[in-house]
Amino acid sequence: MIVVGAGFGGVGFGIKLRQSGESDFVILEKSPSVGGVWFKNDYPGSACDVPSHLYSFSFSFAPRPDWPHKYARRADILHYLVDCAEHYGLVPHLRLSTEVTEARWDDGEARWTVRAAGGRSFRAPFLIAATGQLSMPYIPRLAGSFAGAAFHAAEWNSATDLTGRTVAVIGTGASAIQIVPAIAPAVERLYVFQRHAAYVLPKDDDAYRPWQIAAFENIPGTLWLSRLLIYLRHEASAFGFITWRAALRLKRRAFRRHLRRAIEDEALVARLTPDYRLGCKRILLSNDFYPALARANVELVTENIAALRDETIVTADGAARAVDTVIYATGFQATDFLAPIRIVGRGGRELHEVWDGAPGAYLGIAVAGFPNLFMLYGPNTNLAHNSVLFMIEGQIAYVLACLRRLRQAGAGMIEVDAPAQQRFVSRLRRRLGNSIWAKGCTSWFLTGDGLNVANWPGYSLTYRLRTLRPDWRAYIVR
Ligand code: NAP
Repeated sequence: MIVVGAGFGGVGFGIKLRQSGESDFVILEKSPSVGGVWFKNDYPGSACDVPSHLYSFSFSFAPRPDWPHKYARRADILHYLVDCAEHYGLVPHLRLSTEVTEARWDDGEARWTVRAAGGRSFRAPFLIAATGQLSMPYIPRLAGSFAGAAFHAAEWNSATDLTGRTVAVIGTGASAIQIVPAIAPAVERLYVFQRHAAYVLPKDDDAYRPWQIAAFENIPGTLWLSRLLIYLRHEASAFGFITWRAALRLKRRAFRRHLRRAIEDEALVARLTPDYRLGCKRILLSNDFYPALARANVELVTENIAALRDETIVTADGAARAVDTVIYATGFQATDFLAPIRIVGRGGRELHEVWDGAPGAYLGIAVAGFPNLFMLYGPNTNLAHNSVLFMIEGQIAYVLACLRRLRQAGAGMIEVDAPAQQRFVSRLRRRLGNSIWAKGCTSWFLTGDGLNVANWPGYSLTYRLRTLRPDWRAYIVR
């Protein structure tokens, strides 16, 4: 078996394979370490906005009682994943610094051939794509050219020292709100270029006290209970997104209080107040983003960027701001699933041509015409309200159930039935067309044509129930 990606999906799948007694598999990873996005996103302030007890594997996997903070820092998450890989015996299966370029299905042999940069190739009957939704940085094409240092937040060089520099951060999304407060005290001047304001809410970001960690470690059930309560709190918050939007009024009020507590300048408050409804984009959590914007050396720029010229950024009103460093906190090419890998299925059909800019998959996991290929965190399995690891754990169990069933049936090939996939995707898109994410804002959930290919339209529990047992009527097994 070939697993592509050693982030949470690939590592989780590897753990479960090992626990089920499977040893014939490799995990191919383009980076020199496990960790996925948590290896790549090494920018100052990098941390998680989902609580650590929920943003880690559950008890059937690898519980961790001693998270230092309620919301884990990037270094702790990376350490956890490296630890998991070592503890559960994944190291011999890892092929790091192995960038997959192509995967091709051979119908006669019922095998996938996976090619990696540098000429290496791997062959196996099953291919598990765990490449995530946020692995390819997006840098907008701005007019002109910049003569200073410029890089994407996810390509941060840890040797970069911004002390005394004049810096521009482009974007005010989940990454930017962590970078801005982390670098503001060190830089000479910081310009934050905002296109659309975000809803930023307070983050209950305390460290766990030693007695709490001791309880999680020593009193059976406390860690489980903590995780359950956090899960239920997040799941309940979906009520406003999915069932009754008026319930979001409370969050809107909390947002206004949070903003006004940090910013006195009315004009700045107005510029930081979104002009779209709360929930349309991902809601952000930070206690220090707004205070950072109130600093004397920080300026929020809301004019659109017209061009980069030498060492300046020119905005639409003609103003030119001199900067020596540009940080693109502009997000990822999230709707381009599995790109840039070329996936060639039955009859030589290429996955990205089949999708034609509108990725869709049965349960976000299987695509007709691509036998023995399973995706983890595939199309429409992202959540805006809860931990995506809850979805990934469900997907891992589901794929393993498919593999078990194949083995029991003495079969070697499984493929989702095209009409079953079509029915599933059509229903999903109908629901998403009326969802809170559909209109009124731009977001990484939507393709250029406004199709939501990222999010699951309902509660995470509904998805787990749908994936509890494979419905064999949706599959062709040979
Ligand atoms: P993002 O939230 O999509 O934000 C991208 C930002 O760049 C937006 O503010 C966007 O403005 C701006 N932008 C894009 N093109 C621009 C242009 N041409 N000119 C000016 N601004 C431009 O991206 P992200 O911050 O990388 O986060 C993406 C996702 O990664 C998050 O939603 C989250 O799921 C994950 N993430 C999670 C954490 C965490 O704490 N767990 C941390 C970082 C990231 P508009 O709003 O106008 O489009």
